[in-house]
Amino acid sequence: MSGTVCCKQCQGEEVVKSGRIRNKQRWLCKTCGLNFVEGEGRPGPKPAGLEKKSLAMLLVCLGLSFRAAGLVVGVVRNTVMEWFRDWAGGLELPKVEGPLDVVEFDEMHHFIQSKKQVLDLESNNDSC
Ligand SMILES: [Zn+2]
Repeated sequence: MSGTVCCKQCQGEEVVKSGRIRNKQRWLCKTCGLNFVEGEGRPGPKPAGLEKKSLAMLLVCLGLSFRAAGLVVGVVRNTVMEWFRDWAGGLELPKVEGPLDVVEFDEMHHFIQSKKQVLDLESNNDSC
């Protein structure tokens, strides 16, 4: 009877009945030991396809937020962020050749890094 049922993990056909859960027959794989219910999406979600990832990366590059891109392709924003990190981690940073003549305001942060000295206006008022 169990000839048509095969394991979801190892695709083995050596499965036996292992009780019922949620009014459905549960099966036990004798090869890998996985308990599963036929017809359910377990175990785990399917890995996303390249098309889905590419669309999400395109949307993020066009200016959408991670959350908005996730809503379009049907995943949560953390998944989109993870894909983006994997993808962007392989890219090379642009190299600046020669001395800088003009620095735009949004580049100032990278140029200065962080402000280490705090402007203390209160102490000047006390001395006057
Ligand atoms: Zn198995």
